[in-house]
Amino acid sequence: MQEFSDKNALHCYEVDVAVVGSGSGGLSAAIAAARQGASVLLLEKNGYLGGMTASGLPYLGYLDVKKRPVVGGFALEFVEELKKAGAALGVRYCPKHLSVVATNPDRVKGVAAELCAKNGVKYLLHSYLIGAEVENGKIVRATFDCAGTRFVVSAKVFIDATGDGVLAALAGAKVEKGTAGVDLQPASVIYTIGGVDKKAFFTFLKEHPEHLSCYSLDYLQSSPDFAFVTLDNLWKQLHPLGKWPMKGIWAMILMNRFNDSEVALNGPRIPATDATDPESITFAEVEGMRQAEAFVETLREYVGGFENAFLSHVNDTIGVRESRRVVGEKTLTIDDVVTGKMEEDSVALGSYPVDIHSSKDHTSTFQHVENPYGIPYLCTVSASLSNLMMSGRCVSCDRLAFGSIRVMGTCFALGEAVGVGAALAVKNGVAPKAVSVSKIREILLKNGAILSV
Ligand SMILES: Cc1cc2nc3c(=O)[nH]c(=O)nc-3n(C[C@H](O)[C@H](O)[C@H](O)COP(=O)(O)OP(=O)(O)OC[C@H]3O[C@@H](n4cnc5c(N)ncnc54)[C@H](O)[C@@H]3O)c2cc1C
Repeated sequence: MQEFSDKNALHCYEVDVAVVGSGSGGLSAAIAAARQGASVLLLEKNGYLGGMTASGLPYLGYLDVKKRPVVGGFALEFVEELKKAGAALGVRYCPKHLSVVATNPDRVKGVAAELCAKNGVKYLLHSYLIGAEVENGKIVRATFDCAGTRFVVSAKVFIDATGDGVLAALAGAKVEKGTAGVDLQPASVIYTIGGVDKKAFFTFLKEHPEHLSCYSLDYLQSSPDFAFVTLDNLWKQLHPLGKWPMKGIWAMILMNRFNDSEVALNGPRIPATDATDPESITFAEVEGMRQAEAFVETLREYVGGFENAFLSHVNDTIGVRESRRVVGEKTLTIDDVVTGKMEEDSVALGSYPVDIHSSKDHTSTFQHVENPYGIPYLCTVSASLSNLMMSGRCVSCDRLAFGSIRVMGTCFALGEAVGVGAALAVKNGVAPKAVSVSKIREILLKNGAILSV
């Protein structure tokens, strides 16, 4: 990597591969590219690495409906590293979501940074992407702001792993959002409640099994590490009395034993949130926080074990399920997902149910996928700009297919393929589109990736 100054910007970086965004999509791509010998710069607007992997949400997408592993490679390696750091307990079967990996969110940040350092990935935090210059159908420079300091990055390959397709949008690449710009899944505030007596909560659930939804009490009690509980029936009980504090019925409680008295939730759904609209996302943050606070009061009043509960942590930014998708050389469709289409050019497998939270009301579509499907490499290559690749939420897929591929296990697996593809493009002096997919697959398989079941 070269660093130099010029008259227009305080600092310039020149690298083989620039990755913007360090969530499951960006982190895996950056590390995979560096392992293939590319010089890599990972840029992140937050003050830590990890994006949503460090939110406390469990990682999903590791097992299929038949309990078969569908992701390996970096996706599994990251979990192993977290385990070594005492920050995860591994992949566990879940009766609803098929698999879960519960994590200690703050430790995730450290492990992500350690892995980057170990693999030669240079990263810059507090670095907000604000512009991109395009020449002859390629991104030549991206501009970042760090507390009023502008700096630029030039790279042979740029990877948009911002979740919101920020780089693609700034560079003028073709993007899609929802269905014709509307119909986006709701955003949710992710927060933690402290002061919970879990033993008393289990007693409450034993007395009120109607709250257990698809989980048995046995499952929960044998899951000291993690479990979901959906308090759907609490809504049925309180809503007619006008005592339900949120607009939706959905209150998901996840428990992990990293702190015995805490549970984490991603409860309030704020429908029709558009993360690319400052008015909309501001409303969602404030309204989500208000509903979270009110919900803690409801739990204190109506749910055993929560009598002394308090709001102990709110994630630094609201969780955005859906925003821009970048149009790629190929687009994964819902037909590919439900038919388990597995082509030769697949570089990662998906198998998580099609999980779409309605944009209009508080219902969800949750449809299991019978067999894993393959995600083609060219879904990660922009159709508009020859050196732009996508990883994570902004890969090329239709809105319904997005409902399945958006989970973090899948993002890790596909991100590793993106990183390998980017590095091979640099190594061979070709555009990412022209990289041999069989070579990518060969490298991925050597690294333990799963490309068939
Ligand atoms: C409420 C909610 C619940 C969910 N539940 C689960 C779950 O239980 N399990 C699961 O596996 N998945 C879950 N998902 C889905 C999953 O979290 C995401 O789809 C996945 O994390 C996307 O990964 P990503 O790398 O694309 O994005 P992110 O993890 O969001 O990473 C994007 C990164 O880009 C950075 N960035 C953005 N803009 C810029 C910029 N301009 N400049 C610099 N950096 C920038 C961000 O700060 C961030 O770190 C949930 C999502 C939400 C919102």
